[in-house]
Amino acid sequence: MDIDRKRVEDDLRGVVVGDVFCDELSVQLYASDASIYQVLPLGVVRPKSAEDVVACVRYAAEQNLAIHARGAGSGVAGESLGRGLVIDFSAHMRRWRRGNDASDSLLAASGLELVRVQPGVVLASLNRELMPDGRQYGPDPATRSVTTMGGVLAVNASGSHYLRSGSPRDTALSLEVVTGSGELLELSSHSPLEQSPAGRLARGVWGIFHLHRAAIAADIAKRGASNGLRLDGVIEPFDSLFENQPSPQTVVHLAKLLTGTQGTFGLITDATLQTEKVPAHRGVALLFFHRLDAAARGAVAAVRHGVVACDLMDRRLLEIARDTEWAFAKLLPRDAEAMILVEVQGDSISDLRGRLAKLEEDLCQHQKLAFASTTTMERQQRDLFWALSRRVIPRLYRVRGDHSPVPLIEDVWVPPESLPGALTAIQDVLQKFQVTATVFAHAGHGQLHIRPFLDLASTKDRGRLRSLSEQIAEAVWGCGGLVGAEHAAGRSRSWLLRRQHQQVWPAMLKLKQLFDPHDLLNPGKLITLEPDDCDDHLRQVSTSIRVTHADKALIEATSAEIEAAELRGFPVRELPVIQQWGEGRGIEETVRACNGCGRCRTTAPDQRQCPMFRILQTEEASPRAKANLLRGVLTGALNPADLAADRAKEIADLCFGCQQCRVECPASVDIPKIANEIKAQYVATNGLSLSDMLMSRIDRVAAIASKMPTLANFVMRSPTWRWILERTFGLSQARELPPLAEKSFLQYAVGRRWHHAMPHGGTKIVYFVDHYANYHDTEVGVALAEVLLHNQIDIFVPSKQVASGMARLAAGDARGAQRIARRNVRILAEAVRQGYTVLVTEPSAALALKREYVNLLGDEDSQTVSENTFEACQYLWELHEQNRLSLDFQNIPAEVAYHQPCHVRALDSSRAGQRLMELIPGLSVQPVERGCSGMAGTWGLQRKNYRNSLRIGWPLITAMRRHTAHAAATECSACKMQIEHGSGRSTVHPIKLLAHAYGRLPGFEKQLRMMPTR
Ligand SMILES: Cc1cc2nc3c(=O)[nH]c(=O)nc-3n(C[C@H](O)[C@H](O)[C@H](O)COP(=O)(O)OP(=O)(O)OC[C@H]3O[C@@H](n4cnc5c(N)ncnc54)[C@H](O)[C@@H]3O)c2cc1C
Ligand code: SF4
Ligand code: SF4
Repeated sequence: MDIDRKRVEDDLRGVVVGDVFCDELSVQLYASDASIYQVLPLGVVRPKSAEDVVACVRYAAEQNLAIHARGAGSGVAGESLGRGLVIDFSAHMRRWRRGNDASDSLLAASGLELVRVQPGVVLASLNRELMPDGRQYGPDPATRSVTTMGGVLAVNASGSHYLRSGSPRDTALSLEVVTGSGELLELSSHSPLEQSPAGRLARGVWGIFHLHRAAIAADIAKRGASNGLRLDGVIEPFDSLFENQPSPQTVVHLAKLLTGTQGTFGLITDATLQTEKVPAHRGVALLFFHRLDAAARGAVAAVRHGVVACDLMDRRLLEIARDTEWAFAKLLPRDAEAMILVEVQGDSISDLRGRLAKLEEDLCQHQKLAFASTTTMERQQRDLFWALSRRVIPRLYRVRGDHSPVPLIEDVWVPPESLPGALTAIQDVLQKFQVTATVFAHAGHGQLHIRPFLDLASTKDRGRLRSLSEQIAEAVWGCGGLVGAEHAAGRSRSWLLRRQHQQVWPAMLKLKQLFDPHDLLNPGKLITLEPDDCDDHLRQVSTSIRVTHADKALIEATSAEIEAAELRGFPVRELPVIQQWGEGRGIEETVRACNGCGRCRTTAPDQRQCPMFRILQTEEASPRAKANLLRGVLTGALNPADLAADRAKEIADLCFGCQQCRVECPASVDIPKIANEIKAQYVATNGLSLSDMLMSRIDRVAAIASKMPTLANFVMRSPTWRWILERTFGLSQARELPPLAEKSFLQYAVGRRWHHAMPHGGTKIVYFVDHYANYHDTEVGVALAEVLLHNQIDIFVPSKQVASGMARLAAGDARGAQRIARRNVRILAEAVRQGYTVLVTEPSAALALKREYVNLLGDEDSQTVSENTFEACQYLWELHEQNRLSLDFQNIPAEVAYHQPCHVRALDSSRAGQRLMELIPGLSVQPVERGCSGMAGTWGLQRKNYRNSLRIGWPLITAMRRHTAHAAATECSACKMQIEHGSGRSTVHPIKLLAHAYGRLPGFEKQLRMMPTR
């Protein structure tokens, strides 16, 4: 860390209770957001209270440092980025109170209509909490599952339901803010005559408005559903401005004025907000059009029918929707050039039905604008319709190639009736630049999001960003519109605002000066004399170091970069990567695919990513942090040697490889592979700690211990030995280790002569056993063999196979994992060449064979093994679908609570294990959807991870404790250990139940802890 950063970090740690980071790696995680920009801040503060924020602002004022507030960092205009101190409100300031809180008189008087929220509260979490009261926070930006209330208020972020709920400005009754002078003030509606600090500000605002009243009156008249610094509704009555002095009746709504000012007027530390009633019924219609302009006119007509939402999607978005989901492909007519989605709400279903029917008739038959439509009142279908607009925009990022949808000019507002003309004018500009774009609009209130496809690695496209933006802005202004609708101005659009607000600009500058006299708060954005350039600090996307693998260069630095490095007297930096990063999805493309949207910060219950972020809620725990870190190295912002720093390991260790982010990320970024590379780089330099060494070689330990299982089992049960193991190897003494079997499964298989390949034809299965089924729960292997034999399929168990090596990879010992992978691949690839299919009962081992060995070896054999490997339940379910699975099951009168492991979810979405068990007569299978178990292989066994492991798995453990089932079922041995440890409930592999139902697993009843037959 350089000397200045170190000094600032030490100083801030002296005055702030929350976290402070100024090291190069931590600040790199805050250098980007969901925009196309990258700016490295000096430091990051994560305040725990408003007092921390005050201390930080005062320190910044003394040192003349800028302050940049940040929530989830999901902004698309670079509005939270800057060179100064970033204040991240999302980590610790996440408390909120209901309106009926008796400790607060304003809240108590409001009943349930108000809430008091700290800025780090996530919008969707707030709504989940309010739901039981029948209330919700109305404005609904599409990113609400991650976006913070501070960000929502600062951006005045709204969404599809603007027509119903308005924007946050309409909900903000009172804001506690820290101004640029370091004052902590509660700002709501104030009389300019009030003798208080808030009254002083109200007087200042009234004075500025009074001086510029004519210009402000004209500006207000042409403002629609736009955002930024808005002057309408701030002074009441407005006529009071035409007197020489404010009257006792004059009110200045400071909370309204500050909402939308993007962290440039004050830092919000608490807010009192209006909530609204959850609608009783909702009806949704999709209307399809042959022309985009007809859809725009259809939207204008739809608003006259009292819709509460009206979104428009163009042909390109519809195509992506069809390509990504089968349900959408069925729903969307191929010849639709555009679609609008409308929603109506009310208390009576029949009324809603009637209104939608009238709307359809008007648009389809009378006006002949739409050629087809479909409506629904039913919840599941309605969610599907809405998923169209919510899921498709993020999925734009799955489109492969150099050109990606760029959020730069994406946010404009036009009067809704001018929408058809504005679309034509914008398309003319795009055509002139020979650029294609997607169009999404909240058409009912005239907000348009246009994303041109540009290649930000090309100098040509970077060079024309400014002129493209300017010409689009001019086209929009020509239609009576404005840039800035619901996203921030940030770095992208602030430079256009002076032209946009010519008449009121002097008033706006004075207002900024009133709240932030030293220009400390987010300088260069929104109202500023020196706006950030829209084409400066663009996020670097191409690699500027040499990336090598052994002696092969994967990515060469350009000659200009080599020259520049030589001129500086430094050699070009080099990163010798450890995993295989092939063509097409190489390291550069993988890292670049993360656009920073922040969806991986979700805590939504219908998603699984990211278990670690869910409990820690810090930026470094988010999946995108790992991509940002590696991008920092590839683009030269960080030194490759930084990957050997302890902080790099700390960040990468916050990923335990559950793979859920890869599955759920809209851009399918392979974050686990990125995290594995960072860990491997660290270990390549520093080696493994004693605890990691033991954990990653637990298969070897088990192999030795299994030679004397009785003694080993005694040691593992003994409290004294467990204490010793914890002190010496970091193995948590709270964990019960699974006992070793008397005989390993591989030995058993030799006894059954399954270790010989079969000479005959037919279906040929080779079983990859892995650690747990080999040394501990050998009955899983027996069960698989019995199920296969029952279906006349022989099994081959090569005795030279070794455990998958996933524990080594997870610890960062990628080279050790590579050696294991090579050995197993040699055996299995040979078997595949002889016509075998590989079955695996342990999900993490299946994942190793399907993905990780390819990542580690990248050769043809690993690819062959990957293509021919199946998780055992998935394979058996496919047999069933081909009518090849025997169904002569015995009745099992029991109930099992099924947990789907993360690695199974990552391999196959068909829920094969659950469906197989459902074939068994009498067996009731109850899925328990409570996220990750938190065990992650051997990760949860370590003392250092034990507490977090339980915290992650707690929802599942609690559900299993409360469940009425006889037993739990899951495919994963680590999940089994966690469920049994946390809930005491016996947990079985689905294949054992299958074997038992075939009558081929005697003595198995014990494990089900069967209650008497019901
Ligand atoms: C795919 C996608 C879809 C989106 N859809 C929408 C949409 O439908 N509607 C919409 O409005 N936006 C949308 N956005 C933009 C973005 O998600 C919103 O603007 C969101 O409200 C930003 O919240 P955040 O918590 O991420 O804030 P950040 O991005 O971290 O910050 C946003 C701004 O708020 C300021 N800020 C944050 N906290 C505070 C605070 N406590 N005090 C003062 N200032 C603060 C920051 O300085 C910055 O200027 C979308 C973004 C993406 C990537
Ligand atoms: S990893 Fe995926 S979800 Fe997370 S920020 Fe990157 S693109 Fe978005
Ligand atoms: S693999 Fe799992 S733990 Fe790792 S970043 Fe992704 S979701 Fe988080």
